[in-house]
Amino acid sequence: VDETIGAAPGGGFRAVTEAIIGELAELCGAANVANDAKALARYGRDQVPEERYAHLPEVIVKPASTGEIAEIMRIATRERVPVTPRGAGSGLSGGAVPLYGGICLSLERMNRILEIDTKNLIAVVEPGVVTNKLDEAVRPFGLFFAGYPMSEEFCFIGGNVAENAGGGRAIKYGVTGRYITGLEVVLASGEILQLGGKRLKDVTGYDLVSLVVGSEGTLGVITKVFVRLMPRPAHRSTTAALFADARSAMAVVPAIMTGGGIVPTSIEFIDRSSLAESCGMLHETIPYEDAGAMLLLEVDGTHESQVRADAEVLRAVCRAHAPLALILAESEAESERLWKIRKTVPWALKRRTADQSIEDIVVPIAAIPEVLDELRRLEGEFGVAIPCFGHAGDGNLHAHVQKDPSWSREEWQVREPEILTQLYEVVARLGGTISGEHGIGHKRKPYLPLVMSDRQIELMRQIKRAFDPQGLLNPGKIFD
Ligand SMILES: Cc1cc2nc3c(=O)[nH]c(=O)nc-3n(C[C@H](O)[C@H](O)[C@H](O)COP(=O)(O)OP(=O)(O)OC[C@H]3O[C@@H](n4cnc5c(N)ncnc54)[C@H](O)[C@@H]3O)c2cc1C
Repeated sequence: VDETIGAAPGGGFRAVTEAIIGELAELCGAANVANDAKALARYGRDQVPEERYAHLPEVIVKPASTGEIAEIMRIATRERVPVTPRGAGSGLSGGAVPLYGGICLSLERMNRILEIDTKNLIAVVEPGVVTNKLDEAVRPFGLFFAGYPMSEEFCFIGGNVAENAGGGRAIKYGVTGRYITGLEVVLASGEILQLGGKRLKDVTGYDLVSLVVGSEGTLGVITKVFVRLMPRPAHRSTTAALFADARSAMAVVPAIMTGGGIVPTSIEFIDRSSLAESCGMLHETIPYEDAGAMLLLEVDGTHESQVRADAEVLRAVCRAHAPLALILAESEAESERLWKIRKTVPWALKRRTADQSIEDIVVPIAAIPEVLDELRRLEGEFGVAIPCFGHAGDGNLHAHVQKDPSWSREEWQVREPEILTQLYEVVARLGGTISGEHGIGHKRKPYLPLVMSDRQIELMRQIKRAFDPQGLLNPGKIFD
């Protein structure tokens, strides 16, 4: 069989043959190779709700070691078969979707915490470790992993690295990449690279660790991760602040840093309709009905008295902006309850409709009120609902553009790109960009030229060719 199923530099990809499947089964064990319809369907999508961003792999393989992955890549290179690395499949850009079929390389069996080095404050882990499991494992040592995507209970650390995931604590602690000091990476050729390690500083040549962080599985397969650990803050204080409208809520964000002089751990934003959906789903009793927006504010630290004082500063700034209500969590359980409102928003919005585009725009924080006004304008112009929530402290907002129920799916597919183009043009004009943490994948690929020059995209293509000359790793992602 020599069936060309996609265009790659230097020729087409080939289909996965029975002989290749046999070779993979011999390498990884027959139980770890699957190509039945049910398995293919399961690995053919991520958390992007729309069906048209799904695509089936031809075979799924679940290796257990770096050596097996190197051999899989040698087979793929020899046979010119595309390979898509996959973590937990929780991505929101179609990144783990095998757009050209081929091999889905699932890292789920590589889920061991190899070392917790308390002298160097580094954990060495395999990529299939669930993010929260790492955090739980370092907790007894008084340490924590400060990268914190809201999907931490099910996403993998390898997926976090590949997406450079952000999350609810990024305003104080930064995003995943800040905590990655080293990586083991298998190239498309099957060569194994050791990048960085346990050292905290390194300016020896180009920063290849940072280049692989956020590369969405297009440059290499991450097989080992060196994670920098931080002292675990012993105390936190969580406050929910309800405001009459989004503008009043957003005015609080810069005021906390300028007037309050503190950097909070989290400032999360939820707009009126997202709040109503989430609270409705949770049967929540906070007085959300009249609120136009909610901020979820958190401070943390080592000393309780300092945390209390910082929390009081946060609330004083909120009070100066006429909140409808300020709700202080008096216990861990109450903190978790307030966070649950924020964490439930995506699921509550998904309940409304599967026909929605989950956006991940990011703008300089002062531009957030203008973006929110523009979202309302687009709602009026196109007759869609665009509920919005996200990480207000770093300007990263998740706008869910939802299909009008009266539209056919075909109509939606024509209008959605028009709405997204307008939204992204606004974001670009305000100094923002089209993804803050979810990545480009293939969902946002058509829009990249709105925020990056041809020269920048060409430079990225050249980097891709240097790592992967045949274009076998996760083809069709970020750019063609
Ligand atoms: C409810 C919900 C909340 C979320 N909240 C956040 C949030 O707060 N912040 C945030 O940043 N994201 C968030 N996400 C998105 C998603 O969870 C993150 O992007 C996460 O980092 C993806 O990890 P994963 O293991 O699921 O990766 P996958 O979805 O499986 O893959 C994502 C990308 O990484 C590549 N990849 C995966 N593993 C490897 C590897 N070992 N080597 C090379 N490439 C690899 C894949 O090819 C793909 O391109 C959320 C998603 C959901 C559903």
